[in-house]
Amino acid sequence: MTEKPLLVYPDRTDIAVSNLAVHWFFNAFNEFEPDLLTSDSKVGIFHKRDINKTPFVFVSLSYGPDIIKFAKILRNSGIPLRKEDREKGMFPLFICGGIAALLNPEPLTLIFDAVFLGEGECMKDDIVKMFSMETREGVLDHINALEYAMTDVKPDARQVIAAGGSFFVSSNEILHKLGNCFGNRKIVEMNRGCTSRCRFCAASYAYRTFREPDGKKLMDFVKKTAERKEGLALMGTSLADVSSFDEILETCAASGCTVSLSSLKITEINEKRALLLKKCGVRTVTVAVESADPDTRQKILKNITDTDIFNAMEILKKHNLKAKIYLIAGFPETDLQKEAESVIELLKELDKRNLLHDVTISVAPLSPKPLTPLQDAKFMDKKQYKNYMVALKKGCSVFGKRIKLDFFSYRESEIDYKTGFLKGADLIDLINENIEKGDV
Ligand code: SF4
Repeated sequence: MTEKPLLVYPDRTDIAVSNLAVHWFFNAFNEFEPDLLTSDSKVGIFHKRDINKTPFVFVSLSYGPDIIKFAKILRNSGIPLRKEDREKGMFPLFICGGIAALLNPEPLTLIFDAVFLGEGECMKDDIVKMFSMETREGVLDHINALEYAMTDVKPDARQVIAAGGSFFVSSNEILHKLGNCFGNRKIVEMNRGCTSRCRFCAASYAYRTFREPDGKKLMDFVKKTAERKEGLALMGTSLADVSSFDEILETCAASGCTVSLSSLKITEINEKRALLLKKCGVRTVTVAVESADPDTRQKILKNITDTDIFNAMEILKKHNLKAKIYLIAGFPETDLQKEAESVIELLKELDKRNLLHDVTISVAPLSPKPLTPLQDAKFMDKKQYKNYMVALKKGCSVFGKRIKLDFFSYRESEIDYKTGFLKGADLIDLINENIEKGDV
């Protein structure tokens, strides 16, 4: 008998169906009738599969706090968190993957039967084999022979990545019917890795080298979606580095198909693209400045100048596109008060150039990530973040409603940071401490 898999994405359903890994899973295992359990569904959304009665449960962890949300799902289902407390054979095999699992896999072996490191395309055939195996012991032997699988008896595992041009992930038809956070547009993966190497970001250090998907499949999907005017959400880190990026915008603009996009590097914003984005119905462009201080940007290898920022803002304004400026607070060797002052200075300069209209400033605390050069950086304390917020709010009051300040939750960032570094039982303690609080 062939078993049918259940994928758990421990967040709201609209967030789950906006995630590329979930679409990959449903596309890859379509013939096995996969089911999806989220934080707001008690049983599988499509086949009412029960987490207690499904032999194979795959868990996608894309963000640190997801492990706490998953623990909540286990508790609500009467399943012990620690693997050692689950009687052998009485509960499903729990296998996790995703970027959060890759960043700190060791403590997860206390919870999961296996942690898979890397990209699904390299694992698909091995996973399919599991579905028809007769015994739990047989499956575990099979898993322990996989190079990318980390288990409590096999601590050595190697991340596997798919070659450029060999992968392609787009909206799964069944999932698409549930809508998503991108105005229900069809989603498509544009790239993996990044061409930049900003020192705080896992995009190039964890996902490794910049890779594009299968170009033909990508363009075929874009053309079909554009013809049907279904709307397209472009997902990736280095969108304009993708060889067909401009062609994709041109195709959508010519067909009247709307586009949403994750973000653009400041140096990627030019007149032609701004015009195309406008034609594709884009209203706001997220520009990642990271730090308003040029010296800090240089230290973190964010290679953009103030002039690059002014030029990009000029172009966006000319084409009536709103800007959402993304900043990170608390880089190493920086004084937070000075950081706040440099943000105000930058905004004043933008104002002087008449470029400050309806701009959102989005700020998050630095959450150092394993595998990156800044992995040993300190996570700021709450008081520091609060003082920074107060200084920024005060300094920005002169701009009135022309700017909107948006601060990311300190607590959520702190949990994200801790889940990346805590080892062994310390991670279990963090989960148990936070499981009741319900604010992640
Ligand atoms: S911050 Fe952006 S540009 Fe820099 S490495 Fe990460 S994804 Fe790439």
